[in-house]
Amino acid sequence: TKESVKGFLRRNLFVLLTIAAVALGVMLGFALRPHNLTLRKIKYFAFPGELLMRMLQMLVLPLIISSLVTGISSLDSKASGKMGMRAVVYYMVTTLIAVFIGIVIVLVIKPGKGHRDSPVASSGTIEPVQAADAFLDLIRNMFPPNLVEACFKQYKTVYKKTIYTKNVTITLNLTDSLNATEAALAANMSRVLQTIQETVVETIPVSGSSNGVNALGLVVFSMCFGLVIGSMKQQGQALRDFFDCLNEAIMRLVAIIIWYAPVGILFLIAGKIVEMKNLAEVGGQLGMYTVSVIVGLLIHGLFVLPLFYFLVTRKNPYTFIAGLLQALITALGTSSSSATLPITFRCLEENNHVDKRVTRFILPVGATINMDGTALYEAVAAIFIAQVNDMELNFGQILTISITATAASIGAAGIPQAGLVTMVIVLTSVGLPTEDITLIIAVDWFLDRLRTTTNVLGDSLGAGIVEHLSRQELQSQDVEVGNSVIEE
Ligand code: ASP
Repeated sequence: TKESVKGFLRRNLFVLLTIAAVALGVMLGFALRPHNLTLRKIKYFAFPGELLMRMLQMLVLPLIISSLVTGISSLDSKASGKMGMRAVVYYMVTTLIAVFIGIVIVLVIKPGKGHRDSPVASSGTIEPVQAADAFLDLIRNMFPPNLVEACFKQYKTVYKKTIYTKNVTITLNLTDSLNATEAALAANMSRVLQTIQETVVETIPVSGSSNGVNALGLVVFSMCFGLVIGSMKQQGQALRDFFDCLNEAIMRLVAIIIWYAPVGILFLIAGKIVEMKNLAEVGGQLGMYTVSVIVGLLIHGLFVLPLFYFLVTRKNPYTFIAGLLQALITALGTSSSSATLPITFRCLEENNHVDKRVTRFILPVGATINMDGTALYEAVAAIFIAQVNDMELNFGQILTISITATAASIGAAGIPQAGLVTMVIVLTSVGLPTEDITLIIAVDWFLDRLRTTTNVLGDSLGAGIVEHLSRQELQSQDVEVGNSVIEE
């Protein structure tokens, strides 16, 4: 009937608008492609999309901090500890499964076998990151020395090449057959030779920083801060109220920006379609590599994660996913799980009615460290590069790849193409040439969108699972709160 159609439209307005935006964006993009717009014009054209990115990013920092602090301080430390453990176990298990799926697929499809399509493009821009330093950076970033700086800078090891030469004493035997000039020349020559032999070139890690939010550091700080405030009872009330109110205010801003989201997404997608290289040209190895990543992501996102959700909650995972549609499409449009975070919050709380205490706590952590799609992609890409180089990997090396791919996904920031950068950790850990990253750059913008969508899906299903597992704690907290209200 008319009323129920109206009701349906009202309830699903944003989802419908978002889907329409994607469809329009794709059509508009393809309609404009034949016009061969210059990059400059494309940038102007995509400007409304850029604005959406900026608005979402603007909210992310205060959102992460306020939601974590209120989320954790509103729970008692036992409950938050349990919830945190559940989340971490879920993150680890699903990430490892994702890596495993990636490895199986790339070993079966073997996208990199045969002669390499393109010669090694030598690029001097990628510094020799050592896996150990990258691990240390991960831990360093958990403890930012300056919280303000952590809002826009991360620690990242950079390298300095130092050349030491030892003092060399050269004894020369001058013979009669050499005249003075020749003797001097010989002396110089042998000194140079000696010097070269005695020269030690050392690459030393030195401090450095790169632009971008250090979300990990802020997450760790906000969690600790929330825990402490939570334990302060009455004394902490003012701060609890402050962060609670801040969180509420940010979510109201999200509710406003969400009106603009479909417009932004339309232009983000259309802009990218106009700009992209001819996909038909991506053939051969790179094409098979792309297919491998996509197949892996689909298996993980559409079957494994939903199965996980179903086994734990006994609820229909696809109904849950339907509620997330807007967040998933935003992830596809922005290729950034942290920029998508505000929308993910809204979808989970408004559509799927996940308890706010869970989303506030779990989502910011998930968006920062839980990246199933990225982990899967890192493993596939590393093994693909090994195949291109005709390098047989033994079991130990594949194990190393799974561990470093997991670490690389934890270390990757939730920003576009962050996974491409942390790829270096995986490659160096098994001695693969880091400059071969250039082989996969051409398709990365595309795979980035898909893996980001998988990342957001994993975070959201995780929140649903943790909520289900934590019903007891949540209920007992309700009772406590209820009691205190009565007492008051
Ligand atoms: N863009 C991804 C994300 O935000 C990270 C990556 O590059 O893999 O989740």
